[in-house]
Amino acid sequence: MRLSQYFLPVLKETPAEATIASHRYMLRAGMVRQQSAGIYAWLPLGFRVLRKIEQIVREEQDKAGAVEMLMPTIQSAELWRETGRYDAYGPEMLRIKDRSDRDMLYGPTNEDMITDIFRSYVRSYKMLPKMLYHIQWKFRDERRPRFGVMRGREFLMKDTYSFDVTKEDAVKSYYKMFVAYLNTFDRLGLKAIPVKADTGPIGGDLSHEFVILADTGESEVFCHKDLLDMNAPGNVDFAGDLSAHVDSRTSLYAAADEMHDATAFAALPEDKQMSARGIEVGHIFYFGDKYSAPMNANVMGPDGKEHAVQMGSYGIGVSRLVGGIIEASHDEDGIIWPKSVAPFGVGIINLKTDNEDTDKVCETLYAALAKAGIDPLYDDSNDRGGVKFSRMDLIGLPYAITVGPRGVAEGVVEIKTRATGERQKLSPEAAIKFLTAEFAA
Ligand code: ATP
Ligand code: MG
Repeated sequence: MRLSQYFLPVLKETPAEATIASHRYMLRAGMVRQQSAGIYAWLPLGFRVLRKIEQIVREEQDKAGAVEMLMPTIQSAELWRETGRYDAYGPEMLRIKDRSDRDMLYGPTNEDMITDIFRSYVRSYKMLPKMLYHIQWKFRDERRPRFGVMRGREFLMKDTYSFDVTKEDAVKSYYKMFVAYLNTFDRLGLKAIPVKADTGPIGGDLSHEFVILADTGESEVFCHKDLLDMNAPGNVDFAGDLSAHVDSRTSLYAAADEMHDATAFAALPEDKQMSARGIEVGHIFYFGDKYSAPMNANVMGPDGKEHAVQMGSYGIGVSRLVGGIIEASHDEDGIIWPKSVAPFGVGIINLKTDNEDTDKVCETLYAALAKAGIDPLYDDSNDRGGVKFSRMDLIGLPYAITVGPRGVAEGVVEIKTRATGERQKLSPEAAIKFLTAEFAA
């Protein structure tokens, strides 16, 4: 992409309403624009990141055997009355009337609807187990929308729903998602800690939140230090027994103070205690027949009897993750994107636009890097060098190549690694080779 053709409305001033780094940088880097409280337009740069995160989330769901679909954002109140949640949900639900005066709502979550879909088609255990998911916008009329996309009113969520005949099988589905989440957050460059959680208004008796550590997090996490050193499970056989991946972690106690008292934490050896602020990026629940019983979502079991289907639900805050990743990875100059979600792989800074020599080298680099699938963003503007450098640091691409007349005369360009600040002078050919290898890794 050429900057001259792109839409990157970078702000010089820090907007007053932004109190945390991710919110500040997302506004300054022209990633989002607030359209009303907690409701954002995703500008091109932000949208690229959102899509990349969504794709990683999708790939890991698919690997775990979940099947993608899409449910509507607007739901009928009828289903929510069946489960009793229409009245229970409270003012966070955006209630709407259609022209025939029917009660509708903008979905804050989809348990009720998916249970309705399930009961319309599935009658026998032979169709189970099943996991269905969608990635769809939700609306919750939060009392205090804040921190930009981290606590919005309209936000993008991946929500999966599992269906099994027995509790034992439902717990297996739960642990599939548990492992899929560990892999998902790992690919996003995050250390996510599974924390035992209260099941809250969704209900049920088994639940974990996945929390990433950041000083600006809204909850306090107590956990065993070794949890931070554990690797993600990586390639696992989802048809096999996943309990080892889960047990090793749950045995390293973790609890969030909002839901638990910290007494179990005191029981840990002192040098293994860790407490930190955290951001909830995912939440998984096993809740049995909480929705299937009132909605009569029954299946015939192998025993020839009817059973209310055993369900779980599994959310990931896709749009919250954009902010969460920035909270976990930035410095005083701007964002530092992990390669896996960076909006572009590399920036090309032409220090002297309209100079025949620098233009030529930039065009060569641009074509070769695009061909290698590295997604270059070519700053072909007439702005001063200083402006180009600080803009590139702000938007946080993993690498930036600077092409100036002096270097070109010597046959070199300079590559800067955003995360480390490390600079190296290489010939344009060596620069292409270096980046190709970095992105293949
Ligand atoms: P929180 O405790 O932060 O309010 P929640 O427990 O109500 O979240 P869930 O119902 O578990 O949220 O939703 C699944 C995921 O959706 C959460 O883990 C979070 O990542 C994301 N999410 C929830 N509310 C918001 C919001 N207002 N803005 C952005 N993302 C959100
Ligand atoms: Mg939650």
